[in-house]
Amino acid sequence: MASLAFEAPAATVIPVDDGTGFPVRRVYCVGRNYVEHAKEMGFTGREPPFFFIKPADALVVVPGGQSGAIDYPPGTEDLHHEIELVVGIGKGGADISAADAREHVFGYAVGLDMTRRDLQGQAKKQGRPWEIGKAFDQSGPIGPMMRASQVSGIDEAPITLRVNGELRQEATIADLIWNIDEIIEHLSAYWTLQPGDLIFTGTPAGVAAVVKGDRLVGAVGGVGELSVVIK
Ligand code: MN
Repeated sequence: MASLAFEAPAATVIPVDDGTGFPVRRVYCVGRNYVEHAKEMGFTGREPPFFFIKPADALVVVPGGQSGAIDYPPGTEDLHHEIELVVGIGKGGADISAADAREHVFGYAVGLDMTRRDLQGQAKKQGRPWEIGKAFDQSGPIGPMMRASQVSGIDEAPITLRVNGELRQEATIADLIWNIDEIIEHLSAYWTLQPGDLIFTGTPAGVAAVVKGDRLVGAVGGVGELSVVIK
């Protein structure tokens, strides 16, 4: 093979607190992982965790201390915010036990699982895949990665989202139905994890629509803040 037919797309790289970069391979997301959010979406009880995937190039990386922007996506009239703790995998593996899971964690970031809720709702009703509601361009704004060694108390950290200064989502990571270790155990039973994989761990209650001009500021205690404007 003499050369590529066209230029290869650049990897998505998330800045790390030590000045290096975290090259993203895959983006896994957990559905309905906080009790109150599961209820607001019409579900009760503990079900096994389930996963969907966003393309790595759907991420919008917002460096620390900066404000990012995403375009209001086409095809929807109900774009929702979902603030989430994102786990970065640094050491791969399959069939990882919950007890060993933290050895595989590189660090943590704050992310938004932006959702075209109307299209996701139609897909659910028709038994179709969720990609049109979840995996669209610019659907994953994400802040910088903090190495796990620099984050204390992640399992009880507060997670919040404000829209134009108003508190919309508030919980703690302890409210996760499936905690970080259990998510990694379940996920790695079905996919072999590799360095560079991200896991969006689910969103607390309070999801709602945003419109052009809204400013979203998400935070996870000890990890950082993510500020994004819808344009
Ligand atoms: Mn989500």
